Formats: sequence, structure tokens, C-alpha cells
Amino acid sequence: MAIGNMNLKINDMEQDDFDVVIIGAGICGAITAYKLAEENHKVLLLEAGTGQTDRIAFAGNYATAVKKHPGSPYATAGPGYISGPDNDNKYYIHETNSDKFKSTFLRIKGGTTWHFLGNVPRFLPSDFRLNELYKVGDDWPLTYDDIEEDYCTAEMEIGVAGDHKEWNDYMGAHRSKKYPMEKIWQAYGDSVFIEKVNGQFVLEKEIKIMGTPQARNATAYNGRPACAGNSTCVPICPIQAKYDATVHIKKAIEKGTALKTDCVVKKLIKDDNGQITEIVYLDRTTKKNVKIDTTGKIVVLAAHAIETPRLLLHSGLATKSNQVGKNLMDHLQGYCVAISKNPVYPFRGPITTSGIDVFRDGGYRNEFGAFRLSIGNDGWGRIESPFNTLWDNLNSGFFGRELADRVSNRVICMTRISFSTEMLPKKDNSVTLSATEMDEIGIPKPVINFKFEDYNKKAMKYAFEVCKRIFELADCKVDEEKSQVTSYSGAGHIMGTTKMGTDEENSVVDSFGCCHEHRNLYIVGPSVFVTSGTANPTLTAAALSIRTARKINEQLRAQK
Ligand SMILES: Cc1cc2nc3c(=O)[nH]c(=O)nc-3n(C[C@H](O)[C@H](O)[C@H](O)COP(=O)(O)OP(=O)(O)OC[C@H]3O[C@@H](n4cnc5c(N)ncnc54)[C@H](O)[C@@H]3O)c2cc1C
Ligand code: SF4
Repeated sequence: MAIGNMNLKINDMEQDDFDVVIIGAGICGAITAYKLAEENHKVLLLEAGTGQTDRIAFAGNYATAVKKHPGSPYATAGPGYISGPDNDNKYYIHETNSDKFKSTFLRIKGGTTWHFLGNVPRFLPSDFRLNELYKVGDDWPLTYDDIEEDYCTAEMEIGVAGDHKEWNDYMGAHRSKKYPMEKIWQAYGDSVFIEKVNGQFVLEKEIKIMGTPQARNATAYNGRPACAGNSTCVPICPIQAKYDATVHIKKAIEKGTALKTDCVVKKLIKDDNGQITEIVYLDRTTKKNVKIDTTGKIVVLAAHAIETPRLLLHSGLATKSNQVGKNLMDHLQGYCVAISKNPVYPFRGPITTSGIDVFRDGGYRNEFGAFRLSIGNDGWGRIESPFNTLWDNLNSGFFGRELADRVSNRVICMTRISFSTEMLPKKDNSVTLSATEMDEIGIPKPVINFKFEDYNKKAMKYAFEVCKRIFELADCKVDEEKSQVTSYSGAGHIMGTTKMGTDEENSVVDSFGCCHEHRNLYIVGPSVFVTSGTANPTLTAAALSIRTARKINEQLRAQK
């Protein structure tokens, strides 16, 4: 059977009757499902990735992997399931002359939170008004105040450890509720910086080192244990002290949500009025294409900021805005590494526990990006692991007591500050579809166009200067050669490809995530962001998902 202009052979028709079908079981899809199921609406959650998520096996994969990287625990999830991009350009195709887009995501039940770090600061009020304040970027169709309560709900749901006093009213970001948990203890290394640098001025800003709000348990919370401090938060927390979206998948299922894993949505089909009337997905377990009739129902797209626009483009939806796939953003990262005069004793506790947030806003944003600094608690991270230190010394001919001393003296003094810089939304930074290359199930691969611009380069340079001065104040010797400032890493913060706004000429969705052109289609996730700010995106995306769920709940209540 062919549907519309598609030549898809449909083998099956989904028979169950749902109020809402959600595509993507990451945090945004799962939290939306839970909030809808709480009100007894019938929800179907469709997930492309595998449902086989054995945490112990994943942790074991990581422990035994020779090359340790964020994807290594999930190798057993099977080909086709973690078809998240890699850095060798096998999944994303880059336009000629594009710089490399370096961020990744996971296709698996629970999505990318399986390997997120778990830093969850809020956006600042200024992040929503970048154009009004600094004449760059664009303004959101909502303010910080519009989502402040949703932030509180998201923090309760996720389980965020943070210091209310430290963060309340910080840069104008008021908090109407306390964090559900006190902050995670700050690492010993942080105390070296707190003692020597707090209150000092660096490039005209007074430095304040704050405990970063974290999606990890400071105490037992929501049936999960307190953080045990063994430093493998990325790519996996073996004991689930760190939040991941399987928490909300479980809660949604307990409230009646149906979850189907191994189901890759291939296309959404609309009628003449722009309503989404059919979803077609491939059930990998049966290898059959299945159709769901969504007439009169609500569809929520929660497939993250590459797959969401990809599916819209492939389905020919939201075309009037000409914004689908545009404004792709990330937080471009660099780092400064140093050897401290006094030991900082890394590797005890989460990968980072403290940050410097004073550079997240300032007049310079009309010229270059704001940035957040994170103090690392994992030595030099992947730049030089303790194993590399050992190897280098062995190769230099050291052995016995001298070898042991050289390695331990270096490792306990290795310190790192990384900086995540703001990107501006640009229409040329985009996701489009390949005309020639398909993925393994015949959907065009995403083509990325991405530019590392002056706005980012200047921010990286400025942030590096800041780090150098902080290290000087803290008696640390910077290794400029091993630091990274003229190139960048991706932060995994993929944002902006289906932005929200006031009308279909300038945006894809409204401030509630409802698609201007297709009123029964909602989008949740960082793809709806208008600007990137400098805060890690997931808390804001979760808060916006809760806002979207509230709107859908109202709509469904009115219909019943
Ligand atoms: C290494 C790393 C570290 C990070 N650290 C942080 C951090 O410290 N703090 C922070 O805030 N953020 C962090 N992030 C970003 C964070 O992980 C994401 O913002 C967040 O997980 C996005 O959630 P989501 O639900 O929108 O998307 P995802 O979690 O990616 O979920 C989307 C789901 O949709 C499914 N899907 C995709 N296409 C289809 C389809 N066609 N049919 C059906 N299902 C589909 C996918 O399989 C996936 O499960 C990090 C990311 C990485 C990579
Ligand atoms: S430090 Fe260990 S226990 Fe704590 S969140 Fe990270 S991985 Fe989990």
C-alpha cells in the first residue's frame, strides 16, 4: 500500500487508541509523557533505539574498553541503534567548506542523558533577550519569569542538587523554590581555587566560584542512591546517582504510557488542513513499516535537534517558516590545563563540581560570546590521562621508585578549567538533507553546515586569558601547548534547529512548542531554543517540555 506521495509499503496498522503519540524517549519526550500520563491521557512513546539497557553491562563495557570515549559503554546496544554521529564524519555529512560539527547524541531508550555530564544551571534572564540588550541574535517569545515555575518543577523531577542561597537572584535569576537537595560537596581541588581566587578581580570581573547545580543525588532521592564519587559521570553512572531519562520513562509507564522501542519514525503525513494525520515508523523487531492514524490526536516530536528537523524536512512539514534546520548551535569548548604548585588530588568526586559563572553576561556579548568556566576534577581529562603520564615516563626511561614518584607527583597536581562559549543563531549554520546518501533504513542523511566564527573565536581567546590569570592567582603553571584555544570541541549541546517565535514567518513553533503550521504537532527539546546562552541546555529543555505538556493537558481536557 502506498500512502500519499510515498512509496512505503505498510504492513501493519497500529490498533490502539492514543490521545498523544510522542516520538523520542529522551528526557524531553519522557518527561512530557509522564506529565500527560499523570492526567490519565493515553500516551504512546515511540523510540528508535533499543530497549535493552543493562546498566551493569554498560558500565562493564566502559571498564574494559581499551579506547574510552562517550560511546564506548553503549557498543552492545547494537548497530543501527546508536547511530548517533561520530567525529569521523560517517553519520553527518558536512557541506564543502563547513567546519566540523563535533557534538553527538545517543539513540537508545533514555536518549543522550545516558552519557550527559549532568550540569544543570538555569538560563539567565538576559539569555532570553539577547537582541534587545546587545543587538545580536534574537529574542525569545517568552521571558525567564514565564518559565520560572517550570524550572522549579523540572529541578524537582530530575532531582537537582544545588545551593539555593548561592543561586537565588544570581544575575537576576530569581528562584521561587529551593533545590530539592543541598549542593553536592565541592571537590578538594576546588577549595584551592576558592581560597586563592575568590574575591579577586580578573579582567574587571570579581571572581566567585560556585557549586554547579547538578542532576546527581547529594543524598538518596527518588529511589536512587547518593553519588559515590567515582568520576565516570560521562559516559556512565554505574549506580544511577546521576539522573538519566529512564527515570521518567519508568514513571510514565507506571502511569499507563505505552513504550515501543526499536521503532524508527520515518515520516509524518499531513492532510489539506495541515493536521498531522499519519505517522509511519519502521518496527525493527518485525522489520515492518507500521502506520498510526493520528487524526484528532496530538503528536509530539522529541527527537533532539538533528533528528527533529531531519524528520520535518523529510516529511515536507513547516515549510512556510523556512526555518526548519536553520540556526544550529552548540557551546564551543576549549580548555586551559596547568600544574598546580600544591596538590589538587583529582579523580575523587564527580567530573566537575564547581564553576565560574561571572562571565555569562556582559556588554561584550555584542562583540563576542559569553562563557561559563568549569573547574575539572579529572586531572587533564582526555588530554593526558594518568596512563599517558605513566607511559610517557616509562618511555623516558624512568622506573622503580622514581617512576612512581614522578607519576604520582604529576597526577595529583594536574588541573584543568574548561570554557563553554555562547554561539549566535545563524541561518547558514544548518541541518539539511542529503540528496544522495541514505542511512541504513533509507532516510536521507543529515547534511551539516557549520562555521566557527569570529564571535566564537574571540570568546575562546578571552576565556583563555581569564583562565590563565586564574591559574596564576592559584599558583598553577599553565601548559599552553596542551591547552586548547584556537580549535574547539563540541559540548554535546545541540540546539536551535526548530526555533520558537511569534509567527510562522520567523519561527517553527510558538512559545508553547506548538507548530504554527500544524496545530496538532508539538516540538520539545533544545531544538526550540532561540539563543544558546551559556547554560547547559537540558534543564531549560525539560522546563519547556513541562510547559508544553501543561498546554497539551489543557487542550485535551477541553476536548473531553
Ligand atoms: C557528552 C555529553 C555531555 C553532555 N552534558 C550535558 C550536561 O552536563 N548538561 C546538560 O544540560 N546537557 C548535557 N548534554 C546535552 C544533553 O544530553 C541533551 O541536551 C539532552 O539529552 C537532550 O534531550 P532530548 O530528550 O531532547 O534528546 P535525546 O536525549 O537525544 O533523546 C531523543 C530520542 O529520540 C530518539 N529518536 C531520534 N530520532 C527518532 C526517530 N526518527 N524515531 C523515533 N525515535 C527517534 C532517539 O533515539 C533518542 O532516544 C550533554 C551531551 C553530551 C553528548
Ligand atoms: S561521580 Fe560516580 S556515582 Fe557520582 S554521579 Fe558521577 S558516576 Fe555517578
